[in-house]
Amino acid sequence: MDFYKYGDYENLSSKLIKDIQSNLIDWYMKNHRKLPWRENKNPYYIWISEVMLQQTRVETVIPYFLNFINKFPDVKVLANAHEEEVLKAWEGLGYYSRAKNIHRGAKMICDEFLGVVPKTQNEIRKITGIGPYTAGAILSIAYDQAVSAVDGNVMRVFSRLFCIKEDIGENKTRKEMEKLGSILVSREKPSFFNQALMELGAMICIPKNPKCIACPLFSQCSGRELGVADDLPVKKKKITKREVDLEVALICNTDKFFIVKRSSEGLLANLWALPSIEKEKNMEDGKSILLKLKENYEMIVEKEKFLFQKEHIFTHLKWNMNVYRYKLIKNNLVDKDKNQWICIEDIEKYAFPTAFMKILKEIKKLV
Ligand code: SF4
Repeated sequence: MDFYKYGDYENLSSKLIKDIQSNLIDWYMKNHRKLPWRENKNPYYIWISEVMLQQTRVETVIPYFLNFINKFPDVKVLANAHEEEVLKAWEGLGYYSRAKNIHRGAKMICDEFLGVVPKTQNEIRKITGIGPYTAGAILSIAYDQAVSAVDGNVMRVFSRLFCIKEDIGENKTRKEMEKLGSILVSREKPSFFNQALMELGAMICIPKNPKCIACPLFSQCSGRELGVADDLPVKKKKITKREVDLEVALICNTDKFFIVKRSSEGLLANLWALPSIEKEKNMEDGKSILLKLKENYEMIVEKEKFLFQKEHIFTHLKWNMNVYRYKLIKNNLVDKDKNQWICIEDIEKYAFPTAFMKILKEIKKLV
């Protein structure tokens, strides 16, 4: 077997490259899943699906994708939509900055590229939120250009296939793998080649217990041959999550309760939520949020009782959300863009992040 020396991608044998290309593409043609964004080569569909698929499973993405393109069938409709509608369509997928970037990107495409997703690396990389992987996926799948599209799945396949032991969390490793991808990509069928690699990473060369026996690259794979496939790829240790105790206020006034729009910066920006704040150390339970309500909204409330606790986990953060019920005593504010009194039946009209949807579901049970 030809063993690849890390970084020596220029000297890969042409036979090995050809074998990898033809085995992968033949396998893909016979075995790929039918997915809604693969039904045609619409670059807008490829873009939306690839962004949704980042850190989210295919089965979860399908209904979101269908709903999204039903609501926003092309770049122009998306560009003209209100951010609130876009966030609503994204609700539950998490990582809301991705939805905001897609929206901004659609506006850029309309303003600078006459509503057509650009066809060159230089232009497409100018679009907000389109990084090297998404650019590669759009250019190769939609426009048949021989460019690499290297994400975490593809890096796992490359690490095993070529027995690469560098940390895939490092930027320089990703760059090397992108070079490797651009050497390997089929000049004749780049769309099928890149999709085949993605499909292989999702279906066969999976994170644990890769299905080598069913793999079209069985004979070319150094990692399998050397018995180290299971130990690859090498990944950095996970960053420990910061735990935050959050106080969340359910403030009731007759049959309505109070919601606020989160700040336009930072975590879950511009999404709707119940008022919340990190609990201050040494402060009595339920008091930190009471002070925030007075300071931010000139609202006087009286604590009634603790309701329940819910957890929510982000990439680097864990929220322990303690929900308290408060009675409204005095309320001066009216700013419908930033806060609202709503009935429980109205929650569908607002974009709430998953963390707060968990709370609202519990509240629904209590009503
Ligand atoms: S042979 Fe096994 S380890 Fe190698 S690419 Fe295929 S599934 Fe992955």
